Amino acid sequence: MTESFRAVLARGEILVADGATGTNYQARGLERGQAPEQWLYEHPDRVTQLHRDFIQAGSNVILTNTFGATAVRLAHAGLADDAVQVNQRAVALARRAIQGERVWVAGSLGPSGQLLEPFGSLTREQAITEFAAQARALADGGVDLLIIETQFDLGEATAAFEGARSVTDLPIIVSFSFDMGAHTMMGLEAAQVAQAVTALGADMVGVNCGRSLDENLSNLREMRAATHLPLWMKPNAGLPRMTDDDVALYDVTPEMMGAAAEQWLAAGARIVGGCCGTSPQHLREIARAAERLRVGV
Ligand SMILES: [Zn+2]
Repeated sequence: MTESFRAVLARGEILVADGATGTNYQARGLERGQAPEQWLYEHPDRVTQLHRDFIQAGSNVILTNTFGATAVRLAHAGLADDAVQVNQRAVALARRAIQGERVWVAGSLGPSGQLLEPFGSLTREQAITEFAAQARALADGGVDLLIIETQFDLGEATAAFEGARSVTDLPIIVSFSFDMGAHTMMGLEAAQVAQAVTALGADMVGVNCGRSLDENLSNLREMRAATHLPLWMKPNAGLPRMTDDDVALYDVTPEMMGAAAEQWLAAGARIVGGCCGTSPQHLREIARAAERLRVGV
């Protein structure tokens, strides 16, 4: 993709991100306890196929399978020594899914899985180093932009942004998960994080994962009131129900997700997609909502 992502953002164009990685892999055979990044080696064909399914459903922005690919988090999957290769392989498998469509590849950086001091043992310097290394690997691998997502702690989000910005000038989006409904696990509210991310100089701020569609919509609206940055919206397909054997079930249908996407766009979101529970079928309805707005029906 040679067209500048920043120019597209500046025009206020509406783009469609992709859906879930984890829950779709689980539906396609990822075992519980397995890191999604292990599929980069065990099932590269399935990794590329899910990207392909989202592109065919209407995604313009696809996220690499690197949510947990800081070295510190990859240690749990026994892949810490291969962190650079993991990230670059994920970029290559995402690129392989593009067959001439207008699609940008976004390098995904999720939380490190450790709490920063004083709540945990990860120091701010270590966090910056970890995220800088991942961002460099993704940038060298050829991503078009970076998405620091599912953040809940301003300390970690800031460290991730600073680390990434220290190694690349690529566009950076920072997105938070409001796991407690109106605030993140660490008690942050949408307006507060939107202001903080704006002050950092990020290209976009947004909402992803979280809880119910209604709660995520009000978080998005709070962000809209608190920043001039373009907004990213990639919420879960509603609040899951847990079965007796601890499997998350998402009751929101593709049609419901499409109707919700109209509300996100009306609230000012410029890139819309879905997080946990969002299948390619859900994504198709989100893409249709974006298309309705583009053509004005
Ligand atoms: Zn999610």
